[in-house]
Amino acid sequence: MQIETMQELYVDVLKDLYDAEQQILKALPKMAKAANSEELRDGFQEHLAQTQIHVERLDQVFEQMGETAKRKKCKAIEGLLEEGKELMDSVSDPEVLDAGLIAAAQKVEHYEIATYGCARTYAELLDQEGASGLLQETLDEEKLTDEKLTELAVSQINLEAAEEGAEATEAPPMSRKHPTARGRKK
Ligand code: FE
Ligand code: FE
Repeated sequence: MQIETMQELYVDVLKDLYDAEQQILKALPKMAKAANSEELRDGFQEHLAQTQIHVERLDQVFEQMGETAKRKKCKAIEGLLEEGKELMDSVSDPEVLDAGLIAAAQKVEHYEIATYGCARTYAELLDQEGASGLLQETLDEEKLTDEKLTELAVSQINLEAAEEGAEATEAPPMSRKHPTARGRKK
């Protein structure tokens, strides 16, 4: 479809998000299942419940415009989720996999944050106040999810994964303080 107006661009972005959220709905249970950390698994489950609400909010946004909700394939999320799947298939250490899963999830969140930010701004520009409020609510939840993932990574999961790596290379505990003992060439 040819896009000419801001209204059409806005609807195009909404369709992209509507598809993205539904792809994410399908992927999150798999990511939860693959997660080793209970906190990470709970985090994915919690975001799954939120994602259902994100879909409903988009339904409302379309409804308020008098449009039926339609999906337009979000190739970006398809690609990001594909990379996530590759990761799940290729990382054998559970703790290292958790670190990778967090990164994969954050890439998805960042895409959503950027896209919801644009959609919210367009809604404001087009005087669709109800819609801009709904989009802002979802944007806030995506941002919070991203922050929680960062918190989980830096406080716990990345550290555990790094420990795991050190054990795997059989470095004696003391030697970690020595840069030359981390497998670097002298
Ligand atoms: Fe979402
Ligand atoms: Fe999300």
